[in-house]
Amino acid sequence: MDLGIAGKWALVGGASRGLGWGCAKALAEEGVNVVMVSRREDVLRDAAETLAKQVKSQVLWVAADITTPAGQDAAFAQHGQFDIVVNNAGGPPPGDFRDWEREDWIKALDANMLAPIALIKRTVDGMAERGFGRIVNITSSSVKQPVEILGLSNGARSGLHGFVAGVARQPKLVSRGVTINNLLPGKFDTDRIKTTLGARAQKTGESLETLREEQAKLVPAKRFGTAEEFGAFCAFMCSQQASYLTGQNILLDGGAYPGTY
Ligand code: NAP
Repeated sequence: MDLGIAGKWALVGGASRGLGWGCAKALAEEGVNVVMVSRREDVLRDAAETLAKQVKSQVLWVAADITTPAGQDAAFAQHGQFDIVVNNAGGPPPGDFRDWEREDWIKALDANMLAPIALIKRTVDGMAERGFGRIVNITSSSVKQPVEILGLSNGARSGLHGFVAGVARQPKLVSRGVTINNLLPGKFDTDRIKTTLGARAQKTGESLETLREEQAKLVPAKRFGTAEEFGAFCAFMCSQQASYLTGQNILLDGGAYPGTY
């Protein structure tokens, strides 16, 4: 299927590894020009150069913290306006809420709520003027099914979801081709899951491998998802065909969420 987005420009956060990388790759394979952002320059350069060899579109990159105003400015210095924004950065650390201070909450809110909102604010009106725009916020299944040790994520991301539910339905955006949706990963085989399982392994004394197998068995699909399948779904959400989809929270979790709605 031709997604009809070749030649568009996409900003993809957290793009050197994991889910962000999957999204950048899938979009670039559709002919979308991408600006990839993440912090570690060597890892990002490798990822971008590898991708650039595989696709015909332009692949630009900038090593920056996308959750800060300076990092966002650095991304826009690569390309002035975007048709697609994939809001993504690392998730907050796991832990016990009794150990978190105000500063920990502010960091989580900055990274997982306020930074995506800043990028939405910066892009959607221009998208509406040009008649096309796609925002995909990578959040977490923990918004629907909270994970006890991920309280910072459960809380901060819910704030983003609440904001998106309102703004995505503004007629002046939707009627001019701009959609805003959240894509909620369940368990995906990336470095992030190693970190969260690693913390649990330390707590329980089990080996990381045993925990991985146990966790995969809990998913009805009996496996973790891959960055490639996540990216392909994200690219579809950015497609012309997905123009009637807005304000939605789409779970991609191999059937793990046990509810009807
Ligand atoms: P990952 O494998 O750890 O990759 C994170 C990517 O984001 C890396 O490229 C990292 O590179 C970059 N990054 C982190 N902080 C950044 C920042 N401040 N600015 C720019 N780039 C940043 O993580 P993932 O599994 O792809 O997860 C992506 C998001 O989905 C996270 O928010 C995670 O919490 C959420 N999620 C993941 C899963 C899962 O199973 N994988 C499940 C639920 C939710 P640098 O470190 O070099 O910046």
